[in-house]
Amino acid sequence: MLEKTGIPTKEQIDSAFPSEERMKKGPFVVVECFQKIPCNPCFTACNRDGIKIFEDINDLPNVDHENCNGCTLCVSKCPGLAITVVDMTYSEDKALLKIPYEFLPLPRKGDRVTGLSHGGEEVEEVEVVNVQNPKGFDKTPVISIAVSKDKVKEIRSIKVPKERDRSRDEIVCRCSDVTLKEVRDLIHSGHTTVNEIKKISRIGMGPCQGRTCSQVVIREIASITGKDPSTLKPGTYRPVVRSVEMGKILEAMENEEAAKR
Ligand code: SF4
Ligand code: SF4
Repeated sequence: MLEKTGIPTKEQIDSAFPSEERMKKGPFVVVECFQKIPCNPCFTACNRDGIKIFEDINDLPNVDHENCNGCTLCVSKCPGLAITVVDMTYSEDKALLKIPYEFLPLPRKGDRVTGLSHGGEEVEEVEVVNVQNPKGFDKTPVISIAVSKDKVKEIRSIKVPKERDRSRDEIVCRCSDVTLKEVRDLIHSGHTTVNEIKKISRIGMGPCQGRTCSQVVIREIASITGKDPSTLKPGTYRPVVRSVEMGKILEAMENEEAAKR
């Protein structure tokens, strides 16, 4: 089956998992590398002797689960995306599954995405718990997802919705780098005046003094609370104060005097 479809059998997947006793101790590596190829970055990445030395570069990885602490170094280094890390102690009903993921855009922490099987079938909706994006051309991002414990051997990848909530990326206040999502979160948490939102997020406190963002904030408050936008106050704005050299003031005064003469 593996040779024809690239999908390992249930027996092969089972063989990559450690004993029940080891699974209860904490995170462990799952190496689904079942075909001999000249490759060993999993061994060179591991500094805990979790992958034993290769006698021959074509050997299959020999995993020592007792030495592995689930650090994921080998997950991001494996060019075949053959390695995951599993933590069955994550919570009562969920396991933490750390998978290599090389598509863009990357999901974000907190996203709800679809967990896919080895063959790409949808298994269940899962939450993204963490996103590691290590620097280096030869390192693959590692996504941590919370999956149902009984699905941990089934789920092997994720599908990220094409249409993500873009509000978290949209900058409303360019002076203070405040996003639309931050503004919406503040309104949802009960801050429904421009001044409140300004004091918490610093929106509108930059050099433009709210020239571009105040109308967006009013629009968002109106849209979320149902209030008439014409009844919403734009907030307090002040001219920018900048230090000026005394010499420049004297110069200006002299120029003014000269102009009168
Ligand atoms: S997860 Fe970390 S400790 Fe375990 S085998 Fe991979 S590199 Fe070694
Ligand atoms: S780095 Fe990945 S593909 Fe290469 S031998 Fe190790 S597990 Fe197999």
